[in-house]
Amino acid sequence: MKRVITEDEVRKWRNGLTGNVGFVPTMGYLHEGHLSLIRRAKEECGQVAVSIFVNPLQFGENEDFDSYPRNEKRDLALAEEAGADLVFIPDGTEMYPKPMSSFIKVEKGTDVLCGADRPGHFDGVATVVTKLFNIVQPDRAYFGLKDAQQAAVIETMVKDYHIPVTIVPCPTVREEDGLAKSSRNVRLTADEREKAPLIYKSLTSAAEMSARGTHPETVKRELHNQLKQTGGRVDYGEIRLWPSLEEADELHPGEPLLIACAVRFSTVRLIDNIIITPE
Ligand code: AMP
Repeated sequence: MKRVITEDEVRKWRNGLTGNVGFVPTMGYLHEGHLSLIRRAKEECGQVAVSIFVNPLQFGENEDFDSYPRNEKRDLALAEEAGADLVFIPDGTEMYPKPMSSFIKVEKGTDVLCGADRPGHFDGVATVVTKLFNIVQPDRAYFGLKDAQQAAVIETMVKDYHIPVTIVPCPTVREEDGLAKSSRNVRLTADEREKAPLIYKSLTSAAEMSARGTHPETVKRELHNQLKQTGGRVDYGEIRLWPSLEEADELHPGEPLLIACAVRFSTVRLIDNIIITPE
């Protein structure tokens, strides 16, 4: 496996390849969720590139850019074991060499869910993903449904800009107690870690209520009540149509629903979701 830090090195690697190239963009501190994407990419593509870049553009002023967990040595070993052929670890100046004069601005689906709490976040994600796509030029790119809104935004952007990359959404990988794997989980206190699995339990029970035909407003109320039991602050708990992210004001049998939430603990904000299709 190659570890590279410049765009030129990635291009050199890419130019020599003929088969399909799979790409897994990450912010590092890899866990089973990331590794599942790398393994899936390796199953479906001849060569797999992984990027590790904590993208300043997608963090707000009071967010955790500085304290975001990092461990390059461990990441490299895990990525290699999962099947990565290339790991691209650019630094800030490689990705943003000078003040940029153009940015991707995502217009739709960003004033809700995480977008409402994190203004500009998805513009930052879309901008860096576009840059990484242009550098790596993958055939297929793998995104986790753990970040469902991100996957939806990227799918739409790829269509809007005719970017020749197939987006492959992949299922959320969880701890045994249901907590969605996340690089940020290590920053939960012992007490928060004990309560955090209630997030998935709340989503599961909301999914069951929706499957039974309960009105979204009632499900939402109950979801909030349950999420409060985590002891964290509920940033949102919502039922939306998937993948349009439009409000689900009525039950639409046969249409997929996204049941999503964000809960803020002392230093960590966790997100999770379930996608179901009520009969
Ligand atoms: P991140 O490093 O958090 O930016 O995540 C990089 C990629 O891994 C994104 O596509 C995430 O959606 C995906 N990912 C993160 N956590 C999980 C998880 N628990 N299961 C599946 N995919 C995940």
